Amino acid sequence: MKLYEYQAKEILHKYNINVPKGEAATNVDEVAKIYSKSGAKKCVIKAQVLAGGRGKGGGVKIVETLDEAKAFASKLIGSCLITAQTGKKGIQVNRVLVAEAIDIKKELYLAISIDRSTSKITIMSSTEGGTEIEEVSAKAPHKILKEQINPLLGIRNFQAHQIALNLGLAGSLATKGSSLIKNLFKIFIEKDCSLLEINPLVLTPDNEIVVLDIKMDIDDNAIFRQKELLETKEITDVSRAEKMASEAGLSYIGLDGNIGCLVNGAGLAMATMDIIKLYGGTPANFLDVGGDAPIEKVTTAFEIIFTDPHVAGVLVNIFGGIMKCDIVAEGIIHAIKKVDIKVPLVVRLEGTNVEIARKKLDDPKLNIIFADSMKDASEKIIKAVNNKK
Ligand code: GDP
Ligand code: MG
Repeated sequence: MKLYEYQAKEILHKYNINVPKGEAATNVDEVAKIYSKSGAKKCVIKAQVLAGGRGKGGGVKIVETLDEAKAFASKLIGSCLITAQTGKKGIQVNRVLVAEAIDIKKELYLAISIDRSTSKITIMSSTEGGTEIEEVSAKAPHKILKEQINPLLGIRNFQAHQIALNLGLAGSLATKGSSLIKNLFKIFIEKDCSLLEINPLVLTPDNEIVVLDIKMDIDDNAIFRQKELLETKEITDVSRAEKMASEAGLSYIGLDGNIGCLVNGAGLAMATMDIIKLYGGTPANFLDVGGDAPIEKVTTAFEIIFTDPHVAGVLVNIFGGIMKCDIVAEGIIHAIKKVDIKVPLVVRLEGTNVEIARKKLDDPKLNIIFADSMKDASEKIIKAVNNKK
């Protein structure tokens, strides 16, 4: 789960880390209020979207008057911001952060992440922070230094100090830097982060160290023990379907096509999407109902699929191993009754209790199109969807 910059900064502030004073706003009036209240000569207005590259994409601006603040906010809020990290469609900006602008002497880079090849937490640091970090990483990777942290020992003082030195901090600044690094490491552990990236970490002309921008990802597998964070999560960037899916314990990813897919197992789900594509169709989603799918879960899965108005047909592809096909069949029957499915439904079931399942589903009222194989299923759903057009 990715946090917005302003949410991550609130967390850092609670840990006594220097972040620019600021507040989030959803409309121009709020921006004006925050700007006026701040009393700062210069403020920075920043689009709050879950993607980087905002500076280069026009989503960050320093403003020096109230009129300038209002003008930029009204242009930004509600617009679609396209950056190198958003894809061509961009992301709608529903919120901006209005913060005191900071004078910058030097932009540094500091990131904590998990290195899967060594199974250790890695702290990356560079004196070349700022919007060109991707360029540095591609052309001069030796300028990004890595320090591996033993998960059992945690970060040692000498390591924090070394990282501070790597950042070009000396004397009392190195001491400040090293306690900041230890503090960030503490947050990384306590908040179950998978990424904590600060770019830039700024050194001001007064030799203060300030976190100017942050990306914070929480490991989804640990969300259950981060209830507080879950509550701060807004639903603006998460579709209703994704929210329903995460509550029901289903994996759902919305896609551009019109064939809804309900499958058990991530591998089979991907293979189903591939075969739909192969025969000329386009999947509307990836949906893995998991290894066990009780009746309610199957029903919820159908409900989630139909939150997408483009769905013109549904393909159910189940391989019953541990999961029994007859249970899935009951789920389908329940879903048909509850969801009132108005589009063609192709069902391919194979595996444990498949005969019982077929008997249950073999009712003309259910209007199910049966398929024997994946090829058959994808051809049938594509044909049915095309006939409907
Ligand atoms: P990103 O482009 O999405 O990573 O957004 P950032 O928050 O990192 O902002 C991009 C760039 O804008 C930074 O690297 C800074 O150079 C500049 N910037 C952002 N906030 C401030 C600020 O308060 N003061 C100054 N002087 N520059 C800023
Ligand atoms: Mg940045």
